[in-house]
Formats: sequence, structure tokens, C-alpha cells
Amino acid sequence: MSKSALITGITGQDGAYLAKLLLDKGYDVYGFIARRGSDTLWRLRELDVLERVTLVEGDLLDLSSMIRALEKSQATEIYNLAAQSFVATSWDQPLLTAEVTGVGAVRMLEALRIANPRARFYQASTSEMFGKIQQPMQDEHTPFYPRSPYGVAKLYAHWSTINYRESFGLHASSGILFNHESPLRGIEFVTRKVTDAVARIHAGLQKELRLGNIDAQRDWGFAGDYVEAMWRMLQQEQPDDYVIATGRTTSVREMCRIAFAHVGLNYEDHVVIDPRFYRPAEVDILLGNPAKAKAQLGWEASTPLETLIGMMMEADLRRVAKPA
Ligand code: NDP
Ligand code: GDP
Repeated sequence: MSKSALITGITGQDGAYLAKLLLDKGYDVYGFIARRGSDTLWRLRELDVLERVTLVEGDLLDLSSMIRALEKSQATEIYNLAAQSFVATSWDQPLLTAEVTGVGAVRMLEALRIANPRARFYQASTSEMFGKIQQPMQDEHTPFYPRSPYGVAKLYAHWSTINYRESFGLHASSGILFNHESPLRGIEFVTRKVTDAVARIHAGLQKELRLGNIDAQRDWGFAGDYVEAMWRMLQQEQPDDYVIATGRTTSVREMCRIAFAHVGLNYEDHVVIDPRFYRPAEVDILLGNPAKAKAQLGWEASTPLETLIGMMMEADLRRVAKPA
């Protein structure tokens, strides 16, 4: 009998890669999808998986739609990837972020408790929970210090996942994933904002790229590698929490240098610092220690940042040359 998985946030970057991974492993894949005024399916089309998944309408704000999705899918694995996921927006919409990103995860845990308590559950936690870092390299034992409404909401969801595991014996795991990017990354995040702008500058469509704090440093990996770690977590006999990272940190400035150099340009000729993109409280640096994931899941990041930026650049150069 084939396995069945339900993915919330299937229209997002990770949802699309995870859907492809699970389909290739023979799963029946159900996608929990919010009703929107515009088309949100482009990533599923780009990976050529739209026709192979079953979409179920619902919203993380609506418990009954979640229970119905669990009943319809009979999922044995549930991946809760849906969120208001953009840090900058979380200061403008802190309550929505709390409701979707924080309480939304608990609604899904409640739905699971009611409708399908034997299913395995994955919560998409984040390195943003480390925020103002308390140790130079962050692992599963590093104390948290979130710096945004997004980080605070994710921390509530993270501890709730642990609490439901301990209280009700659910097979609930939390992946503390450091930033991961791809050609399918949302355009508002800095890596994709940069690769899209470089492609446009190269094509003569724009001259400058306006950014905020380019001295911030992140541990960036490839989303395609990271969804494999999510799946591996749910294949473990015991649920647990894992840091997923590359173990290397790079500044936004250096990331810009690599992207502009891909088309023979110097970032200093085009990047303009614009305080509009500064954040009320910044996460200056993140650097993850993925040793536990390597030892227990046999997982390692396999895409160097230079290769990742090269992939993103090539995709954006193609998109700019041939708009959809
Ligand atoms: P995206 O922003 O690309 O995707 C978010 C998804 O959530 C979209 O499918 C969106 O749907 C959906 N969504 C938003 N609000 C609701 C709602 N109310 N009800 C149902 N669905 C909703 O995120 P990523 O794919 O990059 O990330 C996946 C998860 O991992 C997120 O939870 C994110 O916070 C977390 N994470 C991501 C990291 C990264 O570097 N990418 C790092 C660590 C954690 P729609 O398209 O309709 O808006
Ligand atoms: P985050 O780590 O989830 O907040 O991912 P982002 O890609 O949004 O931001 C990564 C870092 O880049 C943060 O420290 C931002 O302050 C910094 N940054 C600098 N300029 C920009 C910008 O123009 N847009 C975004 N999104 N981030 C920027």
C-alpha cells in the first residue's frame, strides 16, 4: 500500500520540493492550499508536479478545514510548512503572523489529536529562533533569543510541538532549519532579490539594487537538500528535534559579490544601501552545527553556496530573457 502525506504550504518553496521528493518515493501527496485571489501554483508547475498532487482547500486559521483534510488524505505523515514566513512583514502584521505561524501549528496539532493521532508530524522550525545568538555556533542545545514577531511565533510552535510529543505521545518532530534558498525562493528574500536584480541589470532593465544591512551573515543551504532532511526525520522510530544547516556562514555582501561576478559585474557599482530595508531588530549572524543530523539521520548539505547562487542566477537569467 502506498504511503500518504499531507503538506501544508505546498505552494511555497519547500512545499514544492518536498512534494516532488515524496512523489518520487511513491507517496500519494495531498496539498493543503489556501484560497487566494491570484494563482499560487507556479512552483508546482515549474517542478512539473501539479498534475500529480491532490489539492485540498483549507487554511491554517480554520481548524475544521484541517480536520477534513486529515480525514480526506488519511495521511500517515503531515508536514506543516505553511506560515507567514517573511521576517520583515512580521513587524507590520505581528498578529497575523502569530495566528498563522504560531497558533496555526497548534491548530494542526489539535487536528491531528482529534482526527489522526497516529500520523507522524513535522514542524518547520527556524534558525530565527536563535536570533541574538547565545553561542557562536548554534545546535539543539543553544538557548533561543528570537528578534522578530516571526521568530517569537515560530518559537511558540516549536515548544508546542515538543509539548504535544511529551503530553500526548505524538510522533512530532521539529526541524530547526537554517536559511535555505533555490530558484523557487520568494522574491522578497535577499538571495532571490539579488539574483533577480542581477539578471535585470545584466539585461539593461535596471541599474541599481537597493538593499538594507549587507553585513548580516547567514548559513545558506539549498532547499532541495533540506526537504530530504524533513523526510528523514519522520522515518526515525523516535520523534526528535534537529538542526539542519551547512556549518558555513556568509555575508549578504559576499553573496552579492558572487551573484554579480556570475555575469562579470562588480556589486559595488550597483548596490545602494537603503535604510528602508533595515529591520527594527536585526539577526546579525547565524551559523548552524548540523552534527546531530549527520550522526542520526545520515544527512549532510551537499550544495556549496557558489553552486546554489549559480543555479539561482541561471534561472533568473532565463526568466528575464523569456518572461512567463
Ligand atoms: P514560503 O513563504 O515559500 O511558503 C509559505 C507557504 O505557506 C505558502 O504555500 C503559503 O501559501 C502558505 N500559507 C501562508 N499562510 C497560510 C494560511 N493561513 N493557511 C494555509 N497556508 C498558508 O516558505 P518556505 O517554503 O520558504 O518555508 C517553508 C516553511 O519553513 C515555513 O514555515 C518557513 O517559515 C519555514 N522556514 C523556512 C526557511 C527558509 O529559509 N526557507 C528557514 C526555516 C524555516 P500561499 O502561497 O497561498 O501564500
Ligand atoms: P531571514 O534570515 O529569514 O530574515 O531572510 P532574508 O533573506 O529576508 O534576510 C536575510 C538577511 O539579509 C537579513 O539580515 C536582512 O536584514 C538582510 N538584508 C539586507 N538587505 C535586505 C533586503 O533588501 N531584503 C531582505 N529580505 N533582506 C535584506
